[in-house]
Amino acid sequence: MKYDVVIIGSGLGGLQCAYILSREGYNVCLIEKNHQLGGCLQTFKRNNSIFDTGMHYIGSMEEGQVLNNFFRYFKLVGKLQLKKLDENGYEIIQFGGREYKFAMGHERFLDTMLEYFPKEGKGLRKYVSKLREISSSVDLYNMREFSGQKTKYLEYYAVGIDNYLDSLTHDMTLKSVLLGTSPLYAGVKDRTPLYIPMIIHSSYIESAYRFIDGGSQMSELLAGYITENGGTILLRSKVTKFIFDSSSLKAVEINNAEKVEGKYFISNIHPKAMFSLIEKAPIRPAYRKRISSIEDTYGIFSLYLAMKENAFEYINSNFYVYKTDNVWDGDNYTKKNWPKGYMMHISPNSKNEKYTDAIIVNTYMNWNEVKHWQHTTVEQRGDSYREFKRQKAEKMLDILEKDFPGIRSKTKAWNTSTPLTYRDYIGTHKGSIYGLLKDYNNPLKTMIMPRTNIPNFFLTGQNINIHGVIGVTICSILTCAELIGMQQLLNKMRKA
Ligand SMILES: Cc1cc2nc3c(=O)[nH]c(=O)nc-3n(C[C@H](O)[C@H](O)[C@H](O)COP(=O)(O)OP(=O)(O)OC[C@H]3O[C@@H](n4cnc5c(N)ncnc54)[C@H](O)[C@@H]3O)c2cc1C
Repeated sequence: MKYDVVIIGSGLGGLQCAYILSREGYNVCLIEKNHQLGGCLQTFKRNNSIFDTGMHYIGSMEEGQVLNNFFRYFKLVGKLQLKKLDENGYEIIQFGGREYKFAMGHERFLDTMLEYFPKEGKGLRKYVSKLREISSSVDLYNMREFSGQKTKYLEYYAVGIDNYLDSLTHDMTLKSVLLGTSPLYAGVKDRTPLYIPMIIHSSYIESAYRFIDGGSQMSELLAGYITENGGTILLRSKVTKFIFDSSSLKAVEINNAEKVEGKYFISNIHPKAMFSLIEKAPIRPAYRKRISSIEDTYGIFSLYLAMKENAFEYINSNFYVYKTDNVWDGDNYTKKNWPKGYMMHISPNSKNEKYTDAIIVNTYMNWNEVKHWQHTTVEQRGDSYREFKRQKAEKMLDILEKDFPGIRSKTKAWNTSTPLTYRDYIGTHKGSIYGLLKDYNNPLKTMIMPRTNIPNFFLTGQNINIHGVIGVTICSILTCAELIGMQQLLNKMRKA
């Protein structure tokens, strides 16, 4: 069977492209290697608790706010089971032995921060007005047509967040607190562009919500709409080869056997993984070389705690905890001083509002630590890997016990994941958390456009624009606009 559009990978970007194009009348085929759709939207259930793997909270979901505007078109508004985080402190940054809360709403955020840093009014006001400036001037964020080279996006992409904060304040504690959510963007001091943390903060400062019973509800809803629109979804179908003729992509091979042909193709998988499936193609060598040489974001170790019934009270805030005075050096650790901090998400569930049954704790983990088992696959890594994970879990639990006394005894069971888990489930290079690392020193090197030099082959997902629900959504629009036309697509979205 030949489809209008074949989409490889069912991460948020793949699902959104399949939704948009099937809604606009294209006959789409979405191909996913796993038995569960969604990539990072996947959840898993252990000991009766549901755990998110890569979507803990989303922002700007209220009427008139950015994600709400986009999600209206995706028919997700009013359908997702969400819990609004604490308006007075949706994030809690623990740094230097003190707690700092991020409040929702620009004014409330400013007022709270001024209570902690009364002498820093000038810098804080500039920070908040920059958040407003960036969110109002980036075209697609506001459903305005992308104005190409003149876009403000490029201006914010070419400045580093670290330098920008230095220009606002000499108070190193304030700077560290403002950088406190850097695990949300895998921040690197001399690389991270201002644009990324500011877009993320802009979204959450408007409003922040957790998923009740997990984020896979998003992929389930989108998959339902895709099939209603006549789309085909193939699960357990790993693309093993891209098949080109002299000038275009003809088909993809799945599970080393069947071929799926298409008129157009969209790849939602990590570009380095994609290149490994392309033997011979009319892709420009310089393009391949540029993308292959981009570094990846760091990997993480996750500890998933299944809590005993009615034991650990639900806390309506995320924790970003630092055991170091340098927020940038989380990945620069030794066996002895690991972990230098962690982020903790507490999951709400529909059965019990007062107590949580699932806590997720994430911290940095370098690829080198798991490299030893790189030739193994899920559940087949052997006793030494199990022991490695056990030791890491115990160390993390010791730290958590100091910060949240009693948490150990309230835990029923725990599970873990490492960069190897993300490599094997999601297909990210070396298990990197958010795919390719963006770099303000060389924006054009790390910015990848949906269009390739093959006329019927496009890219989408977190590696192309930025990661996270907003970044990936904007990228899906950029990608689908290549087929539908930007003006036409945005008109439909604005009317939705
Ligand atoms: C731990 C963690 C926490 C996060 N928390 C948040 C959060 O709270 N809020 C937020 O907004 N964002 C968060 N993110 C980021 C967000 O989840 C991602 O940016 C986004 O989901 C990535 O979407 P994507 O479209 O790029 O696809 P991906 O999720 O990368 O999915 C790619 C898909 O392609 C499939 N695939 C790969 N190779 C093949 C192949 N050969 N054949 C077929 N299929 C293939 C994979 O199985 C996968 O399903 C988090 C990420 C992580 C890792």
